[in-house]
Amino acid sequence: MRRLPAFILSAGLGLLAQEALACDFQTILSGLCPTEDVSGEIAFAFDADRGAIDPDHTWNKFEEFPKGTPIVLNVCFFQSPSETVFDKERALFKPADFSQAPKKFKATAEDVEKYAAVWETATYKRSDGGIIGNRLDLNFRNEAGAFHECQDGGQYHVLIAFNQAYANYTSIGWKDYADAYSTGRPRATMVLSVGGRSDKVDMAAVRHEFGHALGFYHEMVHEQWAHCPDLFLPELFIKESDYTFGSDLTPEEQVEVARRVISGLGKRSGRVKPTKNMDLSSIMTYPIKAEFFRPGPGVERCSVETRIKDLSRDDKRTFVSFYQ
Ligand SMILES: [Zn+2]
Repeated sequence: MRRLPAFILSAGLGLLAQEALACDFQTILSGLCPTEDVSGEIAFAFDADRGAIDPDHTWNKFEEFPKGTPIVLNVCFFQSPSETVFDKERALFKPADFSQAPKKFKATAEDVEKYAAVWETATYKRSDGGIIGNRLDLNFRNEAGAFHECQDGGQYHVLIAFNQAYANYTSIGWKDYADAYSTGRPRATMVLSVGGRSDKVDMAAVRHEFGHALGFYHEMVHEQWAHCPDLFLPELFIKESDYTFGSDLTPEEQVEVARRVISGLGKRSGRVKPTKNMDLSSIMTYPIKAEFFRPGPGVERCSVETRIKDLSRDDKRTFVSFYQ
């Protein structure tokens, strides 16, 4: 039997021994329905040593999405999120409440839907010229054409809340879904910022966060990143960069959050392997200028100077190999 991620084992579920398990949505969420590893051309995914994706946390694994059928992920939005939809650690960030601004809510949801579509349309061109597409179908709307609003008991895979700080983050793949549901109430699995200067979701951030939702880690998961947090200068970063981590935080708290964010960038778990090289054009990079690191050898491997706005060729290749 394929080794299951630790959180599933720790749930102590004797049901694992059963033969034919009904794979309804709740059992899928609780991690009981992984199918055979159907990630296809694994060699094709990893031969370039690019793309830190967790093969245990991609959505192609479930009986809900057998080979040859669309991988339909239901996406919902919290229009007026309570504090409880944010996890504790992130509760620092004030939720953005659209309940008094339905037009703005709709426009924001439209932006998210439009920006995330690059994953659905991603293709990979093989060396023999063949084009490989993917099975992802992000389902944002109900039959009447209105955006799904997250509700208790709803069957959603990606639950989006908005906040007012410059902070975007997402669970990796389906990893945290069992946790989110263990409380009996849905909790945001993706948090997008509508704060900052533009007052809108950021296109690159939306594409990046959907990358996480589909199983990608940061591109910083490579061998050279390990020394970077030690060289990071959070005070300078806070002072000089465009990022703010919650305008209601004290300067000390902002520094602490910045430090935590940077040291978390290279983290990985499960079967994610550190890559040898960094794909500098990956949407899963994290743009931080070299000046925010103490000068020294290896700093060039810590920084990404360009803000990446679209999927790289290797992003598409790795993604398509799992979602074809
Ligand atoms: Zn990220």
